[in-house]
Amino acid sequence: MPFFISHFLFLTVSYPPLKITFLGSGTSSGVPMIGCDCAVCTSDDKKDKRFRSSILVQSPATSLLVDAGPDFRCQMLKHKVKHLDAVILTHSHKDHIAGMDDIKAFTYFTKKPMEVYADSFTEAAIRREYYYAFADNKYPGTPEFDMKSITTEPFLAGDILVTPVLVWHLKMPVLGFRFGKFTYITDANFIDETEKDKIKGSEIIVLNALRKEKHVSHFSLPEAIELVRELDIPAAYLTHISHQLGRHQDVETELPPGIHLAYDGLFLTFN
Ligand SMILES: [Zn+2]
Ligand SMILES: [Zn+2]
Repeated sequence: MPFFISHFLFLTVSYPPLKITFLGSGTSSGVPMIGCDCAVCTSDDKKDKRFRSSILVQSPATSLLVDAGPDFRCQMLKHKVKHLDAVILTHSHKDHIAGMDDIKAFTYFTKKPMEVYADSFTEAAIRREYYYAFADNKYPGTPEFDMKSITTEPFLAGDILVTPVLVWHLKMPVLGFRFGKFTYITDANFIDETEKDKIKGSEIIVLNALRKEKHVSHFSLPEAIELVRELDIPAAYLTHISHQLGRHQDVETELPPGIHLAYDGLFLTFN
């Protein structure tokens, strides 16, 4: 079981400086999408090349990965990531967990299982889809997972305090995560009022914004902008972007002050 901490401690803990790196900012099909020759998918702009959504959260002492989708291996190679302390999962959709087999590279070098923080729904999916990693007699080269069950209570991963925020992806519960003044929410189209209270006071928020038109399980661009305003957060970056949203450069010019599209390779640092 992970180490759960009381809300009192949460208020008194001093937060390490953080670096956030966007490893991917695309929706489940990625951008460009296979077989598509639209203006976004054929754009030469590097910011229109979007791996599946994932971020790296690093303090001087700890490196955490949020989600390991199908592009996980390429993301690790591109950013020359040589060490991960833990993986934190938002939900079990394939674009967020399909890279978990490649965790084996890290466990090969460290010779110890990777800590994986997940709620009970996501953990069940990991145990089902990567059943061979939980077998009694594992074949050589199998990834090793040290599953840590989380709920909506804050937990410590290394020296980073993580506060889960429950959000809704149509009818599926998904976890967003608050790291100090930074909140990351992907794959949602509804947030309960009580969970919004956990987000308030953040200085930076990441929200999913799939496209301009309404969608059944993701915030649209207008819905994401409205939520940033409602929560009164000064800086926002939009992620989990579809090719349907438009070219990065074009959409950027249409956004209100303080709100930007995320892009692969974008990093943020704060104390
Ligand atoms: Zn997704
Ligand atoms: Zn999803």
